[in-house]
Amino acid sequence: MVDETRVHSARRYNYWLGGKDNFAVDRESGDLIAKNFPTIRITAVENRGFLRRAVTHLAAEAGVRQFLDIGTGLPTANNTHEVAQRIAPDARIVYVDNDPMVLVHARALLTSTPEGRTAYIEADLRDPGKILADPALREVLDLRQPVAVMLIAVLHFIEDTGEAARIVRTLLDALPSGSFVAISNGTADFADEQTRARFAALMARGQLDAFVRTADEVGVLVEGLEVLEPGIVPVSEWRADEEPGPRPTPAEVAVYGVVARKS
Ligand code: SAH
Repeated sequence: MVDETRVHSARRYNYWLGGKDNFAVDRESGDLIAKNFPTIRITAVENRGFLRRAVTHLAAEAGVRQFLDIGTGLPTANNTHEVAQRIAPDARIVYVDNDPMVLVHARALLTSTPEGRTAYIEADLRDPGKILADPALREVLDLRQPVAVMLIAVLHFIEDTGEAARIVRTLLDALPSGSFVAISNGTADFADEQTRARFAALMARGQLDAFVRTADEVGVLVEGLEVLEPGIVPVSEWRADEEPGPRPTPAEVAVYGVVARKS
């Protein structure tokens, strides 16, 4: 059920993006994190920019027509299906999130073009087999054709890198060659000592639930796949040549992005 007394990462992220779909607990948690990491709103905006550019590249350059977006978040500007269907009206998108709050808002994600399709599944990323077997997914996606799996700002809720990598592998194993995965994950690689210490304190008090990864650990998530240019980089630097400047620094952004292809 939608719980107004418990922090939901989807609602907190919505708050950082300037959205209205959040409650006092989410705003308090969001402000506490912002106090310790003042550029968190830049992080959220840049992460959304990466999602938009990755979907644009996949639809326009790579010709992908099917997307599996896990950890969808609350609907906001430039949802995956809107970006993809602007380029390819026949694109098919399946959204997955485990937060009932997202389900409540899912109607805004189901505004497909007539040529395309969208569906929403309430499920947990930790059980990729269940997601792949879901009848709604099978109805919308043809798993004999390439699919781009979007795992944007969601894998960092899974602490163990081995488990996160197994999830990615299970998903990609079910898909044909020419499929892709796009990942973004928080990182402390660019953080100074004080920022690291403040984050560790938040974690220790249970006030932060996102686990940062090093570039090498993000590399483990895409092992065996062909990493697209420009590699594992801050999301703000992933094919961002046309973004208006000045660009934020990697330390301000603190999220890695990568897109990789199954050959
Ligand atoms: N992908 C979007 C939203 C990121 S916010 C974007 O990058 O803009 C993270 C989302 O992941 C939230 O909606 C949260 O509910 C969801 N999430 C967290 N853990 C999850 C899990 N184990 N399974 C499915 N969704 C999860």
